[in-house]
Amino acid sequence: MKPMRAVFRCFAGCSGEFPLTQAIYRCPKCDGLLEVSHDLEALGQRSGEAWKNLFETRYKKSQFPYSSGVWGKREWVMPQVPDESIVTTNEGGSNLFPAKRLANELGMKHLWLKLCGDSHTGSFKDLGMTALVSMVNHAVKKGDLSVRAIACASTGDTSAALAAYGAIAGLPVVVLLPNGLVSTAQLVQPLAHGAKVIALDTDFDGCMAVIRELAARGLVYLANSMNPLRIEGQKTVAIEVTQQLDWNPPDWIILPSGNLGNAAALHAGFRMMCDLGVISKMPRLCVAQAENANPMYRAYVEGREIVTAVAAKKSLASAIQIGNPVSAPRAVAALKAMRGVVEQASEEELADAAARADRTGLYTCPHTGVALACMFKLIERGTISRDERVVVISTASGLKFTEFKLGYHEASLAVPAHRANRPVVMPADVEQVAAALESGVSS
Ligand SMILES: *Cc1c(COP(=O)(O)O)cnc(C)c1O
Ligand SMILES: [Zn+2]
Repeated sequence: MKPMRAVFRCFAGCSGEFPLTQAIYRCPKCDGLLEVSHDLEALGQRSGEAWKNLFETRYKKSQFPYSSGVWGKREWVMPQVPDESIVTTNEGGSNLFPAKRLANELGMKHLWLKLCGDSHTGSFKDLGMTALVSMVNHAVKKGDLSVRAIACASTGDTSAALAAYGAIAGLPVVVLLPNGLVSTAQLVQPLAHGAKVIALDTDFDGCMAVIRELAARGLVYLANSMNPLRIEGQKTVAIEVTQQLDWNPPDWIILPSGNLGNAAALHAGFRMMCDLGVISKMPRLCVAQAENANPMYRAYVEGREIVTAVAAKKSLASAIQIGNPVSAPRAVAALKAMRGVVEQASEEELADAAARADRTGLYTCPHTGVALACMFKLIERGTISRDERVVVISTASGLKFTEFKLGYHEASLAVPAHRANRPVVMPADVEQVAAALESGVSS
């Protein structure tokens, strides 16, 4: 049997390979992005059917590390990381929520939300962070790598995940946040885990520029998704969704996107399932952006393959308020391979979509609101037909965005709140409460 192995290679195809334990983030020849490249010949020694069966026997079982949805697919993620180096919170295995009432309202037949926010730190970032921190842990133990700290720039969720996984492994963490642009929960999470939290008077793109320079000087190990180790963990969401649909991939994936790493991850997951005979066709992809931070949308509309940076304006969808997406070339490839489209949602549209979904029992973060608003448009326009099977990736828990939710229902946001629902305050008097019920319960 050929051993399974994965290495870093240049995403643009320059020759050369580098071990995954090396602190390397750009191709030394062209300065472009790297990718993790698996030995498909070695993986192909097992049939597609056999891979499905193996993944099924592990899924959500108690045996370490297969209780994690990511490590249940370990051969496809990081075949060389041994059990004792794995840093996990049992990420993955999240709910594929059947959104029947919302689907009915829209006249759709099949709609699911993949609730990636049902996770240890409340966002899909856990899926990538378990992979990255485990590899760093492995490299440090082997003596291949010495790190002063693992670090990231973040719109809030990456830093929460990195701080948690770093704390579990006992590795020092530094996070750079745009001052005043993350939610309270997102700020408290890395503080609670003992990370060094540095709030910079800039936006995410400004934080990213600083962290890149710190990493280039060798002062920190870079945990942003420019580092493709993250993408390896995140790609399992594509596999997991397919598994949850009895290995019939959906027709569409709708994905709220900022830095575009997750778009690359979804593509990598579906690509690998195709290459290894697990599925025979890829779903189509909708990259959903906030209109206030829409560089990918602009490139798409103008038919450009080069995504040029824009100055991101403030958005309620703060985790995707990014004007200079690092993984743009990866996302362009994903859109091509998955017959993708790019759509955008205004602040009003995203807030209304989130509130509308909540009325059907969901509890959506603003980014999921962006995805839903974009899906509404694509259905209206007929790009998505009502009998197609659609999965919306819900990237974070609504519980992390209480300011957004409360602001909406108190009608204190900068957008009209068509579905605001306010508490009624009255004395503790049965007659008055009964009278209030008579006058109607809001629906
Ligand atoms: C990080 C994040 C995104 C965007 O993912 P990218 O890989 O940067 O495109 C979307 N939603 C939430 C909640 C996030 O935390
Ligand atoms: Zn190169």
